[in-house]
Amino acid sequence: MPAQETADDLHSVAARRLRLIDQRYTPGRRAIVDLLGTAGRPVSIGDIAERLPQLPRSSAYRHLTVLHSAGLVRRVTASDEFTRFELAEDLTEHHHHLLCVSCGKVIDVTLPADFERQAADAISRLADAEGFQASSHQLDVLGLCAGCR
Ligand SMILES: [Zn+2]
Ligand SMILES: [Zn+2]
Repeated sequence: MPAQETADDLHSVAARRLRLIDQRYTPGRRAIVDLLGTAGRPVSIGDIAERLPQLPRSSAYRHLTVLHSAGLVRRVTASDEFTRFELAEDLTEHHHHLLCVSCGKVIDVTLPADFERQAADAISRLADAEGFQASSHQLDVLGLCAGCR
């Protein structure tokens, strides 16, 4: 699929989900979604300030809160100090994170398909036993990155 078409899809999904919670897809929100869609990794508020210098940090925080409420953005965090943001998983693809507890670096990782299958089986057995309907899982690995070891 051409990149432009994918980007248009992302923006129309974003506009639709915001409408569902009575919010508008303002230029500031669009700029953040664009950044998250092209960054290729979870971004911090500092990254956003650097890439979108015209957008005050307080507005960026408010936009992220709204985008999170609309189900467009997911928080990735080892601790409050190091919160980062990425597009919600249903807008990207299923993956996990390696989180450095020392510097906050986040590395996206995809686990082998057979691990995902085994995890899904084990999770649905656990969930069934509780009468719980599992829809997805998250697994973030905490530790030290190569630079901090
Ligand atoms: Zn680190
Ligand atoms: Zn998984």
